[in-house]
Amino acid sequence: MITVDQALEIILSRVERLGVESLPLEQAHRRVLAQEVFADMDLPPFDRARMDGYALRSQDASVAPCTLRVIGEIAAGAAFEGTLGEGEAIKIFTGAPVPAGADAVQKIEVTESDGARVLIKEPVRSGQFITPRASEISEGEIVARQGRQIAAAEMAVLASFGYPQVKVFRKPRVAVISTGSELVDVSSKPSAAQIRNSNSYSLAAYAENAGASVDNLGTVIDTPEATREALLKAFEGRDLVITSGGVSMGDYDLVKASLLEIGAEIFFDKVIIRPGKPTVFARRNETWFFGLPGNPVSTSVTFNVFARPALRKLQGFEQTLLPTVRARLASAIKDSSSRRSFLPANLSLTEGRAIAEPLKWVGSSDLVAFMNANALIIVREELRELAEGSLVEVLSFSE
Ligand code: AMP
Ligand code: MG
Repeated sequence: MITVDQALEIILSRVERLGVESLPLEQAHRRVLAQEVFADMDLPPFDRARMDGYALRSQDASVAPCTLRVIGEIAAGAAFEGTLGEGEAIKIFTGAPVPAGADAVQKIEVTESDGARVLIKEPVRSGQFITPRASEISEGEIVARQGRQIAAAEMAVLASFGYPQVKVFRKPRVAVISTGSELVDVSSKPSAAQIRNSNSYSLAAYAENAGASVDNLGTVIDTPEATREALLKAFEGRDLVITSGGVSMGDYDLVKASLLEIGAEIFFDKVIIRPGKPTVFARRNETWFFGLPGNPVSTSVTFNVFARPALRKLQGFEQTLLPTVRARLASAIKDSSSRRSFLPANLSLTEGRAIAEPLKWVGSSDLVAFMNANALIIVREELRELAEGSLVEVLSFSE
């Protein structure tokens, strides 16, 4: 058996990011940049008025009130060809280029004009109400680097600097299979010995959240032939295959044997973690594989601890792990396990302090309790008891 840290080291040292594709900007949202982004122009591209008012020479209006001659106007999108001379002012609107000769703007609220002349009622400093050319960024500078996720603000930056096409890392193609002869579909009423397949849905959703494009391949019964067939089909054309169930020590736990039969290499098959000990990580040709235990909480925990970082690495994210925060325990925890435990919790900010409230759950099948968890309290291997109010490390599901 290996530790959680060793398992992550094995995963992250092997998995490499996928290839690059070029996408129209509209489709690049949430993807990861596979190129540097440069400013192709100064921003602002000219000295820009920050207020509606009058562009003028500050030395003409350093003492107020004073009166200047109005020689024209400049709206946003227009430019003034000439140069402003002594005693002159030009009516200007927010966003318009400040004309040559002017070095300041006085806002409309402290002026009075009859159209030909303007009374400036308050003195003006040089540079006032002007955003100077290139004060945000200069042409040729790097604005964003490879590995950065394209969120809303990055979309604006890419648009500003003329990137109608963007190079991004490819989206991982993921197949999800749930193993278990006891499973029935969501639209069926289970008989006494059956349960509905829920893991396919949580796994597909987690994987999509992590940036993958997911095919839900449904369920497979616990026979060697069916398991082998389903795996072979899943590996075809996929970057990652995720299964649930069938990785424990029982007679009907057939995933590992089937993997070996179809030529996969297994890197590990047990981790010192609770829940989720029998987690399998493997590879067949170019396709990665996670075999997660079938109990729904174990499935969700092991996806988030192990499979999610692999998916993020495939996409070129620099940050592959979910963030951890230090929080105060809202109530005491007893943890009899000598494995590293990940306990469902509610993480909240109360008066600026992070508080982790352990959730009541009856075991790793308790998907209803798990629905209310937004974090996992990490209890290290050697710890058995944590008092209320003690500081704990918490893995947060939200970034
Ligand atoms: P296994 O890991 O195959 O031994 O399954 C452990 C437990 O998880 C069993 O009680 C299964 O019925 C349950 N289980 C397995 N697969 C699923 C699934 N896809 N959805 C919900 N529960 C499952
Ligand atoms: Mg099973």
